[in-house]
Amino acid sequence: MNALPERIAGLIAAEGPLSIAQLMTLCLQDPAGGAYGARDPIGRDFITAPEISQAFGELCGLWVAQTWHDQGRCGRPRLVELGPGRGTLMADALRAIGAAAPEFLREAEIVLVETSSVVQAMQKEKLKTSAADISWCARFDESLSDRPLFLLANEFFDCLPLRQFVKTARGWCERMVTVRDGALAFVLAPQPANPSLIPPDRAEAPDGGVYEVALSALALAEEIARVVAAQGGGALIVDYGYDAPGFGETLQAVACHKFADLLAEPGESDLSAHVDFLALAQAARTGGAAVYGPVSQCNFLADLGLGPRAERLIVSNPKEARAIAAAIDRLVNPKEMGTLFKALALAPKTAPPPPGFG
Ligand code: SAH
Repeated sequence: MNALPERIAGLIAAEGPLSIAQLMTLCLQDPAGGAYGARDPIGRDFITAPEISQAFGELCGLWVAQTWHDQGRCGRPRLVELGPGRGTLMADALRAIGAAAPEFLREAEIVLVETSSVVQAMQKEKLKTSAADISWCARFDESLSDRPLFLLANEFFDCLPLRQFVKTARGWCERMVTVRDGALAFVLAPQPANPSLIPPDRAEAPDGGVYEVALSALALAEEIARVVAAQGGGALIVDYGYDAPGFGETLQAVACHKFADLLAEPGESDLSAHVDFLALAQAARTGGAAVYGPVSQCNFLADLGLGPRAERLIVSNPKEARAIAAAIDRLVNPKEMGTLFKALALAPKTAPPPPGFG
């Protein structure tokens, strides 16, 4: 029995309505009932690109190897993955890097950033046969700032806490969560939010327009950019999201591969939101990195050689040909993940454009 709904109701009774960001953090991270904190939602609630085809993680690994090569094969690189899920992307990436640039792996320290101990345990199991020097930590912090940084993040930024503001006649008011008639319900904060939270280009929003901002995601992008700019390396961020400003709300709950009610069963569904790639890119520029993209996942993977890789996989597993082709199609078809998912890269301003963004 998930005790999270009672905990949330108790918190609201004690401290008043929660922001959407606070609700997301509880629903995803709570060790007793959160979607990641307490169990593994991948596969059950949703499926990610590395779980669809091994080619995805392999190409991410080649992206790292090529970026490292293009920047002069710096010594002591650190390969970091944010939110590694089941560890599949890292396992596939390490295999590809081992083939393309074994010297990288000999020198590299590998760090997996993962909050959930349940999910960490799965990663350790998956990667236990890897010879690489792997360690884990719960957050990206200054301990990761003293070496050239090669960072991968697939479907990570979409689950970072998000605040929502709704345009009303009295200004932009934050959307909060309260308890009404025994159930969780949305409510608008009575006072308008501090205007400094709303970018000037949103001033013209119609009444009812929603502005979403993931402040911790932007701070993190800026921090990663600072390390990449100062130490060298690159960051590859792949996620679903948008690259034009808008006033729609994108926060969603997904349970067992179907959209669910955001408030009905806290902790029983995966909460995520479309990534605002323009805001992420701006934050990275503020951190001092050059920003490339976003480009669509289909163009990015094609540029990295997905076609020839898929052919090789089919030649070596002819009995699996149809399944392999279907998996590859799912990654690149615009009706599936091909264009909704996008790739963004950060690199030092002095470095050449990273592969896939030429
Ligand atoms: N990258 C993986 C998993 C995506 S799901 C894949 O592509 O399959 C999101 C992952 O991020 C999970 O591993 C989840 O436990 C982790 N996570 C969520 N919020 C986090 C946070 N704030 N810090 C670190 N890890 C987090």
